[in-house]
Amino acid sequence: MKILVINAGSSSLKYQLIDMDTETVLCKGLCERIGIAGSVLTHKGPKQAVVQQDMKDHNDAIALVIAALTDADHGVVKSMDEINAVGHRVLHGGSQFFQSSLINDEVIKAIEDNCDLGPLHNPANLMGIRACMNAMPGVPQVAVFDTAFHQTMPPKAYLYGLPYEAYEQFKVRRYGFHGTSHRYVSQRASEIMGYEEGLKLITCHLGNGSSIAAIKDGKCVDTSMGLTPLEGLVMGTRCGDMDPAAIKFLMDKTGMTIEEMDTYINKKSGVLSISGVSSDFRDLAAAAEEGNERAELALEVFAYRIQKYIGSYAAAMGGVDCIVFTAGIGENDSATRARILKGMEWIGIDFDEEANKGRGEIEISRPGSKVRVLVIPTDEEMTIARDTKALC
Ligand code: ADP
Repeated sequence: MKILVINAGSSSLKYQLIDMDTETVLCKGLCERIGIAGSVLTHKGPKQAVVQQDMKDHNDAIALVIAALTDADHGVVKSMDEINAVGHRVLHGGSQFFQSSLINDEVIKAIEDNCDLGPLHNPANLMGIRACMNAMPGVPQVAVFDTAFHQTMPPKAYLYGLPYEAYEQFKVRRYGFHGTSHRYVSQRASEIMGYEEGLKLITCHLGNGSSIAAIKDGKCVDTSMGLTPLEGLVMGTRCGDMDPAAIKFLMDKTGMTIEEMDTYINKKSGVLSISGVSSDFRDLAAAAEEGNERAELALEVFAYRIQKYIGSYAAAMGGVDCIVFTAGIGENDSATRARILKGMEWIGIDFDEEANKGRGEIEISRPGSKVRVLVIPTDEEMTIARDTKALC
């Protein structure tokens, strides 16, 4: 069984073709600048290809993806008949979706209804879905939601301290994101730990966007992102938790409009602006090494916020058995992991500095550590493909 995984953004579209009999990635690729001059498709499989061709919309992008998959030179299938199903990453499933769903008219309507909650992503996800439905009629399509895994949170975790009407009338509550990644690494951690029932996990997805989840008995009980992916940790360019009153205060002082403020807190904040250097942790580490104090401060602020979340999630679950690091920073940045874990011995972590230098899936706590710490590379595409296979 071959499954095509699609992650459609407003001007980009990522794809992977996965052979589910062996769980191997046959090829992957990216369409960029959809609807903008200079569109390009980059395809990586046994053979690579770069196709520079106009893509005025997502239908054009999917047509190019199909051409790349079936190309006589760099393609990986003879015809599209070999592709049994398509799995789509969808950002916001609101409160309707606890799990992935086979796409039908009702599911499309629900994704549309959630466009106001995910205004940048859901419309783009829908364009990807519709383009695939047009190009591959009759092939089952599955939606895998970033929010679904967090739907097991109890009301005490997802309600904000706003008037109740904000929740009842406008669905303002914590939803959480990166659910596919938190689910994947938590399931892998359960396998490594050897049990799920009674297991208390804290999973740290640290990438450009970062979030933490508290997972008990395999179910999410709390997570740091909220109504939108802005809440929680200090991220590459997002501010994370702060006093909401600072927004009016700053708007009064600077004359920023609400749209400008939205950009300010989503795209111009985080470690990028604390450091004044970069949102990339490799640049921050290099600058801090050279004595840049604000780069060092940004790294400190990032780690401190994570330490506080780990402490509070241990309190929320009445303890923690295992902490997992994943995504770009979590998987690759051993210095940031060390910065977070040093000083957390009190929680029961016996940190192994040597093991922390390793790569791939590793355990970075010493044998016998009361709380085990794992690094588990995430694989959201494989999770989407597995869900798609299960539903088809
Ligand atoms: P996204 O949220 O875009 O999927 P990723 O999970 O791929 O992001 O994470 C990207 C971030 O990971 C980069 O911005 C960078 O800060 C960090 N990163 C990637 N590789 C390394 C590395 N070797 N050392 C330190 N940080 C890294």
